Amino acid sequence: LVGAVGAVGAVGAVSAVGSPEEVFSLGHVIGSFSSASSSSVVPCVDPFSEKVIAHIANASTEDVNLAVQCAKAALPLWASTTKQMRQKALHAVADDIERQKDGLAAVETMDCGKPFEESVWDVEDVVTAFRYYADEAAQRDDIQRVDVGDEDYKCHIRKEPLGVVAAITPWNYPMLMAVWKVAPALAAGCTVVLKPSEHASLTCLLLGEIVRKHCPAGVLNVITGVGSISGAALASHPDVDKVSFTGSVPTGRAVAHAAAASAAGPKPANLELGGKSPSVVFADAITTMRIDDIAEWVLFGFAWTNGQICSATSRLLVQRPLYDALLDALRARIATIRACDPMETGCRIGPVVTRAQYEKVLAHVDRALADGAKIANPGGEHGTLGGNRRRPPSYPTSGFFVPPIMLTNVETTSAAWREEIFGPVVCVRAFDTEAEALALANDNVYGLASAVFTSDEGRADRFEKGIRAGIVWKQCSQPCFCQMPWGGYRSSGYGRDLGAQGLDNYLGQKSVVRYAAAHKPLDWYPAPQSKL
Ligand code: NAD
Repeated sequence: LVGAVGAVGAVGAVSAVGSPEEVFSLGHVIGSFSSASSSSVVPCVDPFSEKVIAHIANASTEDVNLAVQCAKAALPLWASTTKQMRQKALHAVADDIERQKDGLAAVETMDCGKPFEESVWDVEDVVTAFRYYADEAAQRDDIQRVDVGDEDYKCHIRKEPLGVVAAITPWNYPMLMAVWKVAPALAAGCTVVLKPSEHASLTCLLLGEIVRKHCPAGVLNVITGVGSISGAALASHPDVDKVSFTGSVPTGRAVAHAAAASAAGPKPANLELGGKSPSVVFADAITTMRIDDIAEWVLFGFAWTNGQICSATSRLLVQRPLYDALLDALRARIATIRACDPMETGCRIGPVVTRAQYEKVLAHVDRALADGAKIANPGGEHGTLGGNRRRPPSYPTSGFFVPPIMLTNVETTSAAWREEIFGPVVCVRAFDTEAEALALANDNVYGLASAVFTSDEGRADRFEKGIRAGIVWKQCSQPCFCQMPWGGYRSSGYGRDLGAQGLDNYLGQKSVVRYAAAHKPLDWYPAPQSKL
């Protein structure tokens, strides 16, 4: 970690270099300071070595208030800079991040366990998001004329920065999920207080340092710590104008409540929540795709990022004639997966983020087995609590590793089928007809994403129209582009990150109506001199 943090040159965030083991203590990034009001800290555990690698400050409500006041103080200046100046500053942020890509990716991997090569992708996506929003905001017209069909009135809509944004984000893509909010908010002219997950905050603190090099202090403030204290205080803070949240359903509910109950009146909140998305594979898919290639996408859909993705296609529906062959192809693919130190090139399964998450995933699998499910791939049995065989022999001896697991015989009423497991676990069922596939795919409270594999374009189109999900992948699973809106239906939340709408999230709208016929009286009330 010392090397990686050094490599990104983020010494400003390091408030104390501690023990001989060089465990960093990192303070918040508030205005021009990197400090905390109390000595309360949260340890950061590397999920591979299982060792504490850093301490982050545990924000108090005073820290939250200070961060919001700094964001509020920075707002008039940042909101009034020209869009071209903001564009230049955000491109400089992107350049800086790009230069430090490997160091940032290494910190991300040590903090949350995802394979280093995935972390590099994430940092590249971070750079793309900053560039996209810098340019998208700069090329937009703030004024949009509207023809209301009446010559006497000239109307326009003015879009302007909404104010102080509270961004509360999860641990599975720590820096990227933060930047999906920070980049458009800053491009729009808003200032931000970011509260990343206490389980993976390091790259967000480094992000705060980098942004501070290129933008005025206070434009991006980063506070860390336990969400029930700092997240809750932030979501309800009276000087926050907009709350943008990504995380689980229960926390999303609490955040929406807090935003609605703020002392300054209800404030808008965007919620990006969980999912239990389906992959639907029709038998005709193999007329245009090799079965092995379908298996790879399916595996990517549930095991990428160690299965900890909101959009994971973790319910697999296979048309009966293809069922055995696809499961065989999946078993063969799973056998190629390399689990090792996530910093190693070629690692495709790293440890899950925390011991608690590890226990949660294993408990889910145990419960599924108790409910009658079967593990359908060799090695999958090591992902259970039962029997204490918690690690395939080829896996490293430390780290919170869960091997990929295919569960069959899963009842549609069982928790494994219905609930988000957030580990590399897929539940598989066979289906016969298109109508049955769509009904099964839609039979869930979530509606974030979906994937369909078929060579029949008409069928793919019917699926696209019939599925109740915010994202539809055809012949693939998981690709995500910052030009395309991201978000879900039903319990997966409301609002959208990314795309043009991702910028609109942070723009207030004024409807401006000008009476352009001043020579013509309104002539509704009688004139004072008139006699009735
Ligand atoms: P989480 O809900 O536990 O935490 C998310 C954030 O909320 C963290 O920063 C946490 O500290 C904070 N928080 C906790 N309690 C709070 C409170 N009472 N008030 C305000 N903030 C509080 O989620 P997680 O475990 O970090 O992330 C995993 C979840 O995120 C999964 O459900 C996953 O599906 C979801 N997710 C969704 C998307 C999406 O785009 N839809 C993307 C990534 C992750």
